[in-house]
Amino acid sequence: MPAELACGRSGRRRPLEAARPLEQRAELRGAQWRGSLRLLYKPGAMDSEPEHYGVVGHPVAHSWSPFIHGMFAKQTGQSLSYRLFDVPPHEFRERIVGFFAGGGRGLNVTLPHKMAAAEMADELTPRATRAGAVNTLAARGDERLLGDNTDGAGLVRDLCDNLGVVITRRRILIIGAGGATRGVLSPLLTLEPSQLVIANRTPERAAALAQDFQDLGSVSGVGFSDLTAEPFDLIINATSASLKGEVPNVPAGALGKDTFCYDMAYGKTDTAFIRWARGLGSSRAAQGWGMLVEQAAESFRVWRGIRPSTTPVLAALKERAEGAGT
Ligand code: NAP
Repeated sequence: MPAELACGRSGRRRPLEAARPLEQRAELRGAQWRGSLRLLYKPGAMDSEPEHYGVVGHPVAHSWSPFIHGMFAKQTGQSLSYRLFDVPPHEFRERIVGFFAGGGRGLNVTLPHKMAAAEMADELTPRATRAGAVNTLAARGDERLLGDNTDGAGLVRDLCDNLGVVITRRRILIIGAGGATRGVLSPLLTLEPSQLVIANRTPERAAALAQDFQDLGSVSGVGFSDLTAEPFDLIINATSASLKGEVPNVPAGALGKDTFCYDMAYGKTDTAFIRWARGLGSSRAAQGWGMLVEQAAESFRVWRGIRPSTTPVLAALKERAEGAGT
């Protein structure tokens, strides 16, 4: 079922484009404009309509989020709309203010806006503060904008609950030192792996990231050539290399026959990293579809106070993706 239909009955849309100048909005709603983002939503104004959500990115047309949240809404009997918003960086702030001032209740935020969203939020959850990035914006009842980051919780849920991977007292390698790695370090370290190594094409970025998380556990940052031949229990590919069909230059010795290989990227067929892992004899490997659904479920919980069941949605998503291509 198309996401728009699954999200509840059709209601009058308040387009993201309809933003008025900030000062004018503040005056219209009688709110005091103080320079930071104050939400101007009046609770109850849209009680009879579906509440509005969406995902903002650039580009964003490829996003599966409307499909996922449409299924969540149907499953939990929630009345909401969920739309795609392609917003270039220079328009981000104004368009976000416009969306929430127009009554929008929540947004997912994807590349390249996650850091800008963190700067806009009035308040960050501890995990968003740690991540330095926001993938979930939520309008709060006190007219403030909450920024959260559900990526780490989504990854851990998929690894531990869906795939049965053990983190505690295991050696973990994360490849990549970008925003996704920063977002998942805290929840991974909370599970107390014996060692967590970040390896990156640009070693300085890995070292700097590891330094930022020293207080949470045993974490180090290195270049690919610094990795020894001692196999890890879990290798997580958090680079964007798979998006280009490339494989990071990780030595084959990092992978043993029992190593679980996880690619945060996902595709219709095996990603380049998954093919690399299988080619080296790995029998346990997974793409990031589960992380995608689990982080979405966590966003849905932040917005609606109810966590949907992810199993049927993940199954439907894979079936749909395999049919449509990604
Ligand atoms: P990012 O901030 O742009 O970071 C990209 C990282 O990839 C950097 O560490 C970069 O290394 C590395 N890299 C890029 N091309 C490479 C190559 N050819 N070889 C080796 N390293 C390479 O991106 P991000 O936000 O962290 O996202 C990373 C991946 O996670 C993406 O594929 C994204 O789709 C995925 N992701 C998935 C989910 C999900 O729900 N499944 C959620 C979040 C992110 P340098 O530092 O040397 O440039």
